[in-house]
Amino acid sequence: MLKCRDVPAEAEALLDGELSLGRRMALRLHLFMCGNCRRYLRQLRQLLGAVPHMHGDASDEEVDKVLSHLHDHSH
Ligand SMILES: [Zn+2]
Repeated sequence: MLKCRDVPAEAEALLDGELSLGRRMALRLHLFMCGNCRRYLRQLRQLLGAVPHMHGDASDEEVDKVLSHLHDHSH
């Protein structure tokens, strides 16, 4: 099981499109259960400018959409 301290490295790999399916699912499962890491990932994406329409208060559904969007464009 992914721990909070593992999330920063996993999130950076995700945003770089370097996360395998298994690791991505583990990350998403963790984000589903952990609001702190959801906020962390949201802030990280904002820092990287990866969110096209940034409004600083993305719903979990939007976070999920961005995650899958990032994945679609990583191949
Ligand atoms: Zn966490």
